[in-house]
Amino acid sequence: MAARNYNIPELRRLDVEHHLPAQANYAELQRIGGSRIITRAEGSTIYDGEGNAILDGMAGLWCVNVGYGREELVRAAAEQMQELPFYNTFFKTATPPTVMLAAKLAEKLGGKLQHVFFNASGSEANDTVMRLVRYYWSLKGEPKRTVFISRRNAYHGSTMAGASLGGMAHMHPIGGLPIPGIEHVAQPYKFNEGFNEDEEAFGARVAQEIEDRIIKVGPENVAAFIGEVVQGAGGVIIPPKGYWKRVEAICEKYGILLVVDEVITGFGRLGEWFGFQHFGVTPDLVPMAKGLSSGYLPISAVGVSSDIVKVLRDGNGEFAHGYTYSGHPVAAAVALKNIEIIEREGLVERVKNDAGPYFAEALKRLEGDPLVGEVRSLGLIGAVEIVAKKGTNERFTGKEGKAGPIVRDTCIKNGLMVRGIRDSVVMCPPLIITHAEIDRMIDIIGRSLREAEPALRALKAD
Ligand code: PMP
Repeated sequence: MAARNYNIPELRRLDVEHHLPAQANYAELQRIGGSRIITRAEGSTIYDGEGNAILDGMAGLWCVNVGYGREELVRAAAEQMQELPFYNTFFKTATPPTVMLAAKLAEKLGGKLQHVFFNASGSEANDTVMRLVRYYWSLKGEPKRTVFISRRNAYHGSTMAGASLGGMAHMHPIGGLPIPGIEHVAQPYKFNEGFNEDEEAFGARVAQEIEDRIIKVGPENVAAFIGEVVQGAGGVIIPPKGYWKRVEAICEKYGILLVVDEVITGFGRLGEWFGFQHFGVTPDLVPMAKGLSSGYLPISAVGVSSDIVKVLRDGNGEFAHGYTYSGHPVAAAVALKNIEIIEREGLVERVKNDAGPYFAEALKRLEGDPLVGEVRSLGLIGAVEIVAKKGTNERFTGKEGKAGPIVRDTCIKNGLMVRGIRDSVVMCPPLIITHAEIDRMIDIIGRSLREAEPALRALKAD
C-alpha cells in the first residue's frame, strides 16, 4: 500500500492538545512537542512520519510475532467483518471463530489445559484470573483461600487487579494500590539480587521465599502463585535453572494454583508455543495475549485446567464475569489465521533452532564492551545490562536507573527501536527477524553504547 501523506507537525500538535498516551509523562510529552508518529510498517521495520526507517527490536510492544504487513491477517479480518463483525458470548451464544480458536488453543496448551476464557487485553486476562481463582476456591468450600503470591518487579497489567498483582512499586501509588490480598516476594533477578551467588543456590533461595511467605500467610489462605515465565517489562529477567520446578513443587505441596503469565512468552517467543513448556512445568491457569493475534487486533485469553472447570460445573452457579469483547469474532478470526501462519512457517521451531541461537551468539559480541555487565537471552527475547564498572553490577550511581533510557534514545536515533528499562536495554523482535537484521540490531546497540558513553559517565559525575 502506498504511504499516505500525513501532516506530521499538525498531528503532533493535536497529540499534545488532545491525546493522552499510555504510561506517559504528559509534561515531558508537551516539552518535546508530542509523540513520534509511526505511520506504517513492513516486516520488522517501522516508519515514522519524518521518513525514518527504524528496525523494530521490540515487535511493537512485545507482540508483533509474525511481523508487519501480513495480507492474510487483513483478509481474515475483512471477511469476518463482512460476515459477522460482532456478536457476544453472554446470551448462551458464541461465534464460529471464537469456538474454533478455543479448541486450537486447547491443542497448543495440551494436557489438562483444555478450556479457554477470552478477554481483550492482558490486563483483563489477569483480572479474569483473579476472580476465577477466588470463585473456584469458594465453590470448593475453601473461601478463605484468597491470597495471591506474586513477585516484586513483576508486570501483570495496568488495571486495578493487574497493577496490584504486578510488583512495580512506582505503579502502586497511582490509584491506591495494591488491592488487598496480594503478597509480593523476591524476583529471580540474579544479576541484580544474586550477583555473586551460585545460580542454582540463588534460584533455590528466591523460590524458598515463596514457601516462607505461604507459611507466614497460612497455607489455608493462599489461592495461587502468579509469575511471568520470563519477566518482560521488569527487564527481561530469565529465571535461573531449577527455579520454575521448585515453584511448581511448592505450589503442589500446599495445594496452591499455579498461574503462569504468558502474555509475552506465548506463541513462540521462547522457542516453544508457551514458555511453561520450555521450563517443563504444568500450570493450572495461563493468561496470554499479544502474540495470540500478533497485535493485529486486541484479544487475550486465559487457559484453564479441566480440574478447575469441573469445580465450576459441579458448583452449577453463574460465573458473573466477562466482557463485551470476550471472544470478539474478528479478533478471534485474526488470531486463528495468525496461529496458522506461525504453524505453516515453522516460526516456533525457527526461534528454537535458528533465530534464537543466532541471536544469543550475536549478543555475545557485546560482552567485551566496557559498559556491558551481562548479556542474556532465551529464544528471541534478550537484555543487555549496562554497568559503570566492568566485571561488577555497579550502576552509574548518580542517577540510578537512567542508563537504559539514554542508550535507548541513542539506538532510536541510530535506527533501532529497543526499550530502556532502568539500567538495561531489552529486545523482543518479531519472530521473522532475519540474521542480517539481528546483526544490525547488535551493531547499533554496540555503536550506541559508544556514543552514549559520555552522557552515561556524566550521570556518574552528578
Ligand atoms: N502480563 C504481562 C506479562 C505483560 O507483559 C503485559 C503487557 N506488557 C500484561 C500482562 C498486560 O497486557 P495489556 O497491556 O494487554 O493489558
